[in-house]
Amino acid sequence: MKNLLVVLILVLVNCKNNDNVKQDLMQQTKKVVVAHRGASGYLPEHTMEAKAMAYAMKPNYIEQDLVLSKDDVPMVVHDIYLDDVTDVSSKFSDRKREDGRYYVIDFTFEELQQLQVTERFNTKNGEQYYPNRFPKGKGSFRLHSLQQEIELIQGLNKSTGNTIGIYPEIKNPSFHHKNGKDIAKITLDILSEYGYKTKSDNCIFQCFDAKELERVRKELQSELFLVQLMEFPEETKQLTHFATYADGIGPWYKQIMDKKIDGTWKFTSLVKDAHELGLKVHTYTLRADQLGDFSSFEENVNTLLLDANVDGCFTDFPDKVLAILK
Ligand code: CA
Repeated sequence: MKNLLVVLILVLVNCKNNDNVKQDLMQQTKKVVVAHRGASGYLPEHTMEAKAMAYAMKPNYIEQDLVLSKDDVPMVVHDIYLDDVTDVSSKFSDRKREDGRYYVIDFTFEELQQLQVTERFNTKNGEQYYPNRFPKGKGSFRLHSLQQEIELIQGLNKSTGNTIGIYPEIKNPSFHHKNGKDIAKITLDILSEYGYKTKSDNCIFQCFDAKELERVRKELQSELFLVQLMEFPEETKQLTHFATYADGIGPWYKQIMDKKIDGTWKFTSLVKDAHELGLKVHTYTLRADQLGDFSSFEENVNTLLLDANVDGCFTDFPDKVLAILK
């Protein structure tokens, strides 16, 4: 009888393991779609409205770029500057630094909340970067904190039953250190408070600064899924080192593309090399209104996600990428 029970337990455990293996395989083949700065192809980047719209498109993750305010609140904003996405130069005209720019770090959370956010524009001529996107200066949008955005996404996860993750990036950690601020530590503590602690907690933590991301793993002992962002060709030589602390890389898509020969794209060895080291590859940024060398967005998506076999991508148009992958 006792033996029968042991056999039964072993069978049950085995079934569970098989299910887990099947689930893991499904996860491995599924492409990860990250809403880059929200649904930023349709609404001003990093606004709550852009995040809510992105959420409704059901990507796997929604991205947050983070910069600290004067009073150490992680603000969801792409740059350490404010002047090309807000009306700061008219509301606080006397608060620019000698270089003529306005810095997030010079304003308190309360002051930052007074600013109107707009579609990104060129400060020299006032023109918006993507002419066919949401009209500059229209609508009423505000900056918000990491905590506010997590509460939006976790709240929607509860009310809809979806499980959409977050994909925070700490911006320019060395600039923060120079100003006496530890953005990595502050961000990790908030993530932990909201339940994002390990690789299974639906949060991917990204950074361009390799020293800082290594510190996040080794000194700050984070167990989150870490992605090393990459921008320059020489960084591809660092891959083996990246694999000692990161779980994935986030290369610029041009680091993956080689050239088109007889209508077929050839690729660098980056994706293959990364996969051999066990690193996932999430490339940036796919934009339906900025195709570069591709003749259509469909070609752009299929070439990178299927032919080049990256595991995921950042996109300003999550709805279009998901529709093409279907
Ligand atoms: Ca980013």
